[in-house]
Amino acid sequence: MKMPVLFVGHGSPMNAIERNRFTETLAGLSQKLPRPKAVCVVSAHWVTRGAEVLAVAKPRTIHDFYGFPAPLYEVEYPAPGAPAEAERVANEFEIKSDETWGFDHGTWSVLRHLYPQADVPVFQISLDEGRSLPRHLELGSELAGLRDRGVLILGSGNIVHNLRRLEGDKDAQPYPWAIEFDSKVKNAIETRDTTSLAAPDSWGKPLAALAHPTLEHYVPLLYCMGSTTEHDTVSYPYEGFEYGSLSMRMALFGGSGK
Ligand code: ZN
Repeated sequence: MKMPVLFVGHGSPMNAIERNRFTETLAGLSQKLPRPKAVCVVSAHWVTRGAEVLAVAKPRTIHDFYGFPAPLYEVEYPAPGAPAEAERVANEFEIKSDETWGFDHGTWSVLRHLYPQADVPVFQISLDEGRSLPRHLELGSELAGLRDRGVLILGSGNIVHNLRRLEGDKDAQPYPWAIEFDSKVKNAIETRDTTSLAAPDSWGKPLAALAHPTLEHYVPLLYCMGSTTEHDTVSYPYEGFEYGSLSMRMALFGGSGK
């Protein structure tokens, strides 16, 4: 059975320990998805020179953020790794295997709600900082075969992510440019316009720069697009914004997540 592919906008790390409409959507989603043999996460928070794959049996939980309340630093996500699958990916795609990373918060803040028992093996693939957007998309398409092996590909980033323009209020009205970029991406997902998705500047450089002063939260979406085709139905289990400048849109490809 071919596994679906999921993109999640993770937003604030606080979502890891809060209960809200977003976290409840995540919790409900695992009931609707086939149970994966493993999860392969492409997270905005693991950027390396050259792509790497986490091949560790017991990954540590990394608290890669500053200035948050103490309880967030106490969260552990003790899911097992998937070193055999990770080594296979390393060999098949000539990706360096890594034993030093663990689960960053792009991974555990989402999986904690999706698989709270931490009983599904998880590995991560890093974002190669030297790779162009079309080449991220390409690596995504190479990874598509993982879906036939029971692996859920999970992209964790945000479709709009500008920390410099965060409003103080979580429920603040989204900026017009945030709404505009989010809707352009949604439209391009639906029409499978991967050319535009791999060149967001084509929607206007100022718009793209406002939506993503840096691109690491955008890139995981390209892995989701790359590993899916026009035969995968698309749904959006969650849509909305946090702090005016973060799109929390989820996109589910090839599953029935509504
Ligand atoms: Zn993030």
